[in-house]
Amino acid sequence: MGKTPGLAVIIVGEDPASKVYVGRKEAMCNELGMYSEKYALPEDTTQEELLALIDKLNNKKEIHGILCQLPLPKHLDEKIVINSISPEKDVDAFHPVNVGKIMIGDFDFVPCTPAGIMELIAESGVEPEGKSCVVIGRSNIVGKPMSMLLLHKNGTVTTCHSRTKNLSEITKQADILVAAVGRANFVTADMVKEGAVVIDVGMNRLEDGRLVGDVDFENVEKVAGAITPVPGGVGPMTISMLMKNTVTAAKRAK
Ligand code: NAP
Repeated sequence: MGKTPGLAVIIVGEDPASKVYVGRKEAMCNELGMYSEKYALPEDTTQEELLALIDKLNNKKEIHGILCQLPLPKHLDEKIVINSISPEKDVDAFHPVNVGKIMIGDFDFVPCTPAGIMELIAESGVEPEGKSCVVIGRSNIVGKPMSMLLLHKNGTVTTCHSRTKNLSEITKQADILVAAVGRANFVTADMVKEGAVVIDVGMNRLEDGRLVGDVDFENVEKVAGAITPVPGGVGPMTISMLMKNTVTAAKRAK
């Protein structure tokens, strides 16, 4: 057991999307022969109870990675919860210590979604170095670390957000365009440069139940040099990177 990478996943409450994500992470652990523990806590779990569980997992030697599925119910303080996970077991790389390490380019863990996107870009054969890289979105879990990773690869990075003016003029310059907005079909073909690598992070559930990204795939596909689909694309890569971070944590623990 001590040599098998171990991941603990905590979920609080009944959020349907979170349940799906946690189920996929558990399934991938099983598929890879990794050890996993799942803690499904009730919606009314107190902050003290959650912190006590994290403290127990921080000290459990079979567990190398701890993931607390976000968002948490409103009465729980996400910041306190994230800060309570040991940085050595913080396989999501949300702890301020790991965030700071990403900033200076000396990191063990990379947040899973941007890490997966870097792998996808590498697969496209397009090097970020010297290229115009545009990221739409500046969240702590996707947009900001994404921009930082592209910068570490010597891309010329522009980070756009809801106050950005002339968005399409900026996106049209992008050799690599990453959309992490959370709005269905937000990026249209007229916003994309011919031949660009387009990465769609968005996961938007339509009223008819369909899952779509932030990019109008059908039309952007005709313009882009490479494009990721939703479902597929970034989502499965995110889970793969979580497994990779857990293996890294297990190796470091040895
Ligand atoms: P978020 O925290 O809501 O951030 C969205 C970002 O989009 C914000 O920075 C916001 O700007 C920006 N934005 C909103 N409207 C805009 C507009 N009209 N023009 C330009 N920028 C605009 O979301 P997130 O957590 O980063 O997630 C983004 C999407 O990715 C969601 O659909 C989420 O479900 C998905 N996601 C997927 C994965 C995966 O594994 N595939 C993982 C994580 C997230 P402001 O900062 O100015 O508000």
